[in-house]
Amino acid sequence: MLMDGVGYHEHSHTAKDGYYIGNIPPIKRLGLPSLNLHDASQGVRTHHAAMIAQVTSWPCALAAGGTWDPALVRRWGVALGHEFLAKGVNVALAPGVNVARVARGGRNAEYLGGESAHLASRMAATYIEGMQSTGVRATVKHFGFNNQETNRNYYNARVDERTAFEVYYPPFEAAFKAGVAAVMCAYNLVNGTYACGSKELLTRDLRERLGFDGFVMSDWWAVHGFGYQNAGLDMLLPGNRMLTDGSHDFFSPDNLAKTSEPGVVDTAADRVLAEVLRAVPTCTPPYCGQEMLRARATSDEHVALSRQIATESVALLKNGGRLLPLQSGSRVALVGSACDARNDIDAMLRQWNLANYYTIGGSGRTIPLSPASVAAGLRAAWEKRVEYAGEGPFHLPLDPAPPAVEVVNGDHDDNVDLAVAAMERADVAIVCGATTAAESEDRPSLLLDQSGFIGEVLARATIPTVLVAMTPGAVLLPFAANATAIVHTFLAGQETGHAIADVLLGRENPSGKLPVTIPLSEEQTVLPCQPVEGVHISSVAGLWTQGGGGGYGVHYDCDYTESLHVGYLGLHDEPVGFPFGHGLSYTSFGYEWAEEPPAAFPPGAGGRLELAVRVSAEEGPASGGREVVQLYLSFPEGSGEPRRQLKGFVKTESLAPGEGVAVALQLTCRDLSIWSVEETAWVAVPGAFLVEVGSSSRDLRLEATFTLAATGCSSSDSTGPTAPTGTTEGGVADPEE
Ligand code: BGC
Repeated sequence: MLMDGVGYHEHSHTAKDGYYIGNIPPIKRLGLPSLNLHDASQGVRTHHAAMIAQVTSWPCALAAGGTWDPALVRRWGVALGHEFLAKGVNVALAPGVNVARVARGGRNAEYLGGESAHLASRMAATYIEGMQSTGVRATVKHFGFNNQETNRNYYNARVDERTAFEVYYPPFEAAFKAGVAAVMCAYNLVNGTYACGSKELLTRDLRERLGFDGFVMSDWWAVHGFGYQNAGLDMLLPGNRMLTDGSHDFFSPDNLAKTSEPGVVDTAADRVLAEVLRAVPTCTPPYCGQEMLRARATSDEHVALSRQIATESVALLKNGGRLLPLQSGSRVALVGSACDARNDIDAMLRQWNLANYYTIGGSGRTIPLSPASVAAGLRAAWEKRVEYAGEGPFHLPLDPAPPAVEVVNGDHDDNVDLAVAAMERADVAIVCGATTAAESEDRPSLLLDQSGFIGEVLARATIPTVLVAMTPGAVLLPFAANATAIVHTFLAGQETGHAIADVLLGRENPSGKLPVTIPLSEEQTVLPCQPVEGVHISSVAGLWTQGGGGGYGVHYDCDYTESLHVGYLGLHDEPVGFPFGHGLSYTSFGYEWAEEPPAAFPPGAGGRLELAVRVSAEEGPASGGREVVQLYLSFPEGSGEPRRQLKGFVKTESLAPGEGVAVALQLTCRDLSIWSVEETAWVAVPGAFLVEVGSSSRDLRLEATFTLAATGCSSSDSTGPTAPTGTTEGGVADPEE
């Protein structure tokens, strides 16, 4: 074996001092640097207390996806790259791109694209390009079908090939096209075999069909037997070796020699070495104390970018009577403990997967030092106006203009009577609710933690109310009808409250769109697969004693019966709370075709259908607003495809009332294709397609039909799942794409 990992702390499941969460030592005789692998999802993982003040606690990946702004995500990738480098990391264990199949999924917040393969593909591409432009190599994860955390080591995802290629693989494929260095294989089984030991997954699909040419690393502890290298696993990450007498040291030189097919180890070494050569040399563990413990990675620019991502991710779900932005001079009651949610650093340092309302829990966590709560964000916005009122646990400054604020229930006691009493003295109430999520478990329900309290408060309110919801994914808002306005954000890191305050006060115009459906009930969602009767899932410690050769021995099937109809694609015919792609602005936008849409897909190689849409800002603030123009495609009858699939979007630049922009949306042959299991290829579907363009999956303003001739089109020359989009005049959403 050429390289042997070091530095994992056997008992705490974390890194030893001076080491990263994964470490490949340098090969001095060849002059090769160490690979320092580290998490990743919400910024540099803060596994050591000293790091907390030095790194940015960014919004979660789903929030970044919720901006629908690939150019912004590219800038995030660059900034993250610089933070990792400052901390000595040269391989980041991100981005996550799994499609949100299970609404309660404990790690949905770590994945960029919510329910949409297209959104995830676009975001993954720019994230990776941005990050890798700094020299830090990226890792796309978790391949594949790690769509739930419940029994993640035990469920066997049974998914058909067409669904795999059309729903779950495209974001990975986009990552490969963007040149991602590594793939991390998942904990679960796929069609009967552990993902990290599946030749179908890691060799046939990943390399031969999707064209990946980097290296595959296992998730930590995700190898359960000998010979996974023959399936296509190139690097085994820690966990397995330490558990026993060495019998589980699957990649030890002796065991590799005994269990490898000819040439396999050399191939794996070549793949890893190619990346070692590309990685920027940083420090060499265990001598990374300066970087890990003392170097400051965050900066004013990064904090500003973090605030911008958080702000752009805020989705205005409802704005009855144009309540928002808040009017100057209103007296505002701030209601609910979530408005001033706490951040218990000591508790988080004690428990690796403890989460809060600012950060997810688990390996992707970046603990914020002092996150801005909603209350703090408002206080900062109304700074220096000191006049106290009310009897709550604490009070915010009062001022006649801009709005006065009284805080009630600022502590952790959500008391309905106190809230109602405070609302009696105010003109408007801001009512906060939140919930969180953590790696290794799915959410117990889709409700907000304060659901009962909020329901009662909204029912008893006699003044207009603004519900502020902060969540790690889909959420149930059964009281939505009783809230005058609703503002939603995904867990948004240290700048949470500033972003929300900016939107509430109209300093920023909301432009986030939901990357997931807000359902009306849990029945509208796919629940985590549970073990069937008779299958007993034991503790992690028991895993290693079950079955021969270190295999877990026990698993249960998880059937992907909804097949292609994942998330919003399965709900088109039902009412939902708020639909996929929804998000209002303080500006109203008009849509019209800028050019007559073509009636046929252009014949010939490399054809693209170009659609030109003119978007105009009608009413709204003089400072302007941004719209996300969304393209939904319906295939010809009989194709077996779900209706209205997101296949394109452009986020405009800010448009002031009276301004307009022509936006170009493009469809490639690949967009018109389905994965043919018989032909093992993308095959275009001839016939009549319907294109709808609008402001959400249910607010469609324009439609057109076009035909694809019986002779079809050639998929091989399409650009795959991230067909570029842009504008034909001014206001380009992402000129670099
Ligand atoms: C997670 C990975 C992570 C790894 C290293 C695992 O528990 O599933 O996403 O990169 O740990 O911390």
